[in-house]
Order: sequence, then structure tokens, then C-alpha cells
Amino acid sequence: MTAVPDQGTPTWAKAPSPKPRDLAPTHPTNGLFIGGEFVDPADGGSFTTVEPATGERLAEVALATTPDVDRAVKAARRAFRRWSSRPAAERGRYLFRIARIIQERSRELAVLESIDNGKPIRETRDVDLPLVAAHFFHHAGWADKLAWAGLGPNPRPLGVAGQIIPWNFPLLMLSWKIAPALACGNTVVLKPAETTPLTALAFAEICQQADLPAGVVNIVTGAGDTGRALVEHPGVDKIAFTGSTEVGKAIARAVAGTAKKLTLELGGKAANVVFDDAPVDEAVEGIVNGIFFNQGHVCCAGSRLLVQESVHDPVVARLQRRLGTLRLGDPLDKNTDIGAVNSAEQLERITELVAAGEAEGAVPWQPDCRLPERGWWHAPTIFTGVAQSHRVAREEIFGPVLSVLTFRTPDEAVAKANNTTYGLSAGVWTEKGSRILWMAERLRAGVVWANTFNRFDPASPFGGYKESGFGREGGRQGLASYLDAGAVG
Ligand code: NAD
Repeated sequence: MTAVPDQGTPTWAKAPSPKPRDLAPTHPTNGLFIGGEFVDPADGGSFTTVEPATGERLAEVALATTPDVDRAVKAARRAFRRWSSRPAAERGRYLFRIARIIQERSRELAVLESIDNGKPIRETRDVDLPLVAAHFFHHAGWADKLAWAGLGPNPRPLGVAGQIIPWNFPLLMLSWKIAPALACGNTVVLKPAETTPLTALAFAEICQQADLPAGVVNIVTGAGDTGRALVEHPGVDKIAFTGSTEVGKAIARAVAGTAKKLTLELGGKAANVVFDDAPVDEAVEGIVNGIFFNQGHVCCAGSRLLVQESVHDPVVARLQRRLGTLRLGDPLDKNTDIGAVNSAEQLERITELVAAGEAEGAVPWQPDCRLPERGWWHAPTIFTGVAQSHRVAREEIFGPVLSVLTFRTPDEAVAKANNTTYGLSAGVWTEKGSRILWMAERLRAGVVWANTFNRFDPASPFGGYKESGFGREGGRQGLASYLDAGAVG
């Protein structure tokens, strides 16, 4: 692939501005959080987490096996009776307390998340952490209002929720899971992703700091086998999973025929549709935010740009110019736009799909961008000349790679946008309000953003259609999935 030189954009250097790492000391060894305390795993096993930006070892983390998961589920079950029968306002107060501590510790948590995940500090500081706190504040307010929310006259919690999350927004996905579950009176056993467990363990400390009753939140660390043990445990009443469609399908098969409730938040291949009347500069910012935010490790990323044929060339030219200004490098530098890819495996997957795009005849373009020598990195990449049959148009790349397709009419835009096995999100860029509504009615996506992209709010339900999963997180709908269906109106 050839790097095309920057197209005349003036460049200037900014002095490096790293955040001090010692704001977030990583514990060299980390136990499991069960029954309110950190404990050693039954068989003493552990695994190593690695810093994506350097490839260096970060910490040793306990590996939970089936007996540990059993212990955690039993601790959650013991805690459930008292937690669910507390006055709801009291549950709300614990959630408020957790939210406040998250705010107080947000600099430390933002740094830790950047080190562990590879994402830029500008994003963890300005997006992830404020949203994490907002989720706890929002659900704190709901705890004592469930009976008046149209969720049935006497909504009851489900019991013990087993929650499994991915690595792309570790603490944010934890908040999406834990805050509504606790507000509704459930107790939880959460398993973070194996490459990003550190902020979940910091959250366990926050639970201690907030004096949350023992066993209400339990955190077991490990990889797929630990997740499987949680899914298969007979003492779990609900599984909430966010991750790949492949694993989501395996989980659906595992809980089929049991009484367990299930919500699945899976992958996506969103269309970001730009009409010829859209304000180009704003659309370009939205396209960049849609696919290059968080290195493209975003389930709802706008990874397919559908641009009206008449404005294809100017939009792509401005996009290329804008990409030339993005800074890739040290995640702890607040000037960084694009950080490290989370793992060697993920980089391999991105590289493999980019090679497939080239082999199938799409045309790649990258800005002039030097990649650091250590760690895992991928330059922002645009494919033009993409056909709907190409793998880069069909498969979730989960990296900083945009596939550009064209359309001529709104009908064609809808047909192409919906031509995917996924249905998580979509974007529409046009100055006509009526067209936005026309498109939103027809797009088979859980979220449709208009003249913006990647906006999140705890009051707004988020979730998918088709192979993007089922169930919603956030809003009243998100609460409903942690309450007894018989009681939900
Ligand atoms: P993944 O499915 O490989 O892993 C997700 C989690 O599941 C991890 O904690 C992993 O350890 C665990 N796991 C793996 N195998 C398991 C099994 N057999 N049983 C139980 N648990 C198991 O996904 P990933 O690579 O960590 O995350 C990326 C994927 O997540 C992407 O497809 C992305 O689109 C999706 N995602 C979706 C949303 C959403 O809200 N829809 C949000 C973020 C990420």
C-alpha cells in the first residue's frame, strides 16, 4: 500500500503533552473481587496484561476458573435477598456515591484506561469517564422510581446477573451493565475482557470505598473459559453480554432451554450516509468521528461511508486532507487522536481484512503517518471503489478502516445501508429534516444519528437488530431488561 503525501495542508508541531503515568499506579498482582474482598483464585492461576502502546507487561491478574465463578455466583446470591429488599432510595444512594467517587478518581481512571486499552487520553478523559459517571448518576435517580415508570405496578429484580464485557470501552461497558442491574435490585458477577481488566478491578476498589454491601458486585477475571463458566452456571438468572456476534451466538445456544434471561449487544457494520446537500465540513468531522474514534474499535462505528455520487470526489478529498491532520501515537499525550490497537490479535485481524480489500480490488489510501516501533498500531485507512460484495463492506473490521461506497437516490442509499447482516447504528447527513425522518423510518438500525455520530446518553436506549443482538441498554428500556418480565408493563 502506498502512502500518499499530505495534500497541501499546513503542518505544525505541537510539544508532547503526556499525562503522568504515576497518576494510575498498576498493582503488580491482582486478585478476584468476591464477597466484597480481593481473594486468590482457587488454583492460583494468573495471566499477564500487556500495554498495547509498548507491548510491555503491565500486571499479573488472577485467572478465575469454574470453582471461583461458583464462589462469586454464591456470594451474589447471598447478597441478593438483602440488597433487593432494601428501600429503593437506599440503593439509589449507593449508586450516587459510586458516581461521585468515579468523578473524584476520574483522572486516575482515565490514565489507567488509556494505559490498559491503548485509547487516547483525550477520549478516556472527555468521553469514557464522563459517560461512566453519568450512567451511575442516571440510574441512581431511577432506583426509587421504577414503580412509576410504566414498568408494571411492582417491578421485581431478576436475581443474579452474569455480565460479560469486551475490551473496547472497558469501564463504560461495565457501567452500562452494573448501574441498571443494581438500580433494579439485582446483584452481579461481571467478567471484564482478558486484555483490559484493570479498570474493572479499580471499580472493585470503588465499591469498597462506597461501602457497597459485600457480594452485590463481584468481579471475576479471565478469558473465554471464565465467561463460559459464568454463562453455564445454574445459579445465574440473567446473562448480559457485549462482544462479538460469534460468541453471542454460542451464548444464545448455551442458555437456550434454561430459565435464564438474555440480552446480547453484538457487532455492527454501520452505514454513514452523506447526501449531496449535507454541509461537507461538518459531515467530514462526523465521518472522522464515526470511524476513527477509539481506533475504530467501536461496535456502532460508521465503517461504511455511503456518499451520494455527485459529491463523492470533494467529500473524499476533504476527508483525506482531514486525515492528514490526525495525530497517531502515545495514548497518554493529550494531543493524540489515534492511539494503539488493543492487541496483536486485533491488529492481525485488521491487517488481514485490509489485505483482502486490496486483493478484491478496492483502492486503499493512508495519510503520511509514521507508526511507532513498539506496540500495535494501524494507520487510518480509507478504501474507495468498494463494492457491496467486498469483505471490507460486509465484515466488521473493528479498526481504523473506512470503506467508501456511492449511491444515487435515497432508495438506493436505504437498500445499500440495510444490506448487511448487522443492524446496530446508522448516520444520515442532509440539511432536509423530512429526509432525515424518511431515512430513519427505513434504516434497520437500533440507533440512527442525524447530522452527528457516536453520541451516547444514559437516557437513550442503545441496541441492535438482526445479528447486532437484542435487548436495549440505557433508558427505560434498559431497566426493563433487569426486571421480572411478569411485572413489566
Ligand atoms: P469477544 O466476543 O471475543 O469477547 C467479549 C467478551 O466475551 C470477553 O470478555 C471474552 O473474554 C468473553 N468470551 C469469549 N468467549 C466466550 C464464551 N465462549 N463464553 C462467554 N464469554 C466469552 O469480543 P471482543 O473481541 O472482546 O469485542 C469486540 C466485539 O464486541 C466486536 O464485535 C464489537 O462489535 C462488539 N461490541 C458490541 C457492543 C454493543 O453494544 N453492541 C459494544 C462493544 C463491543
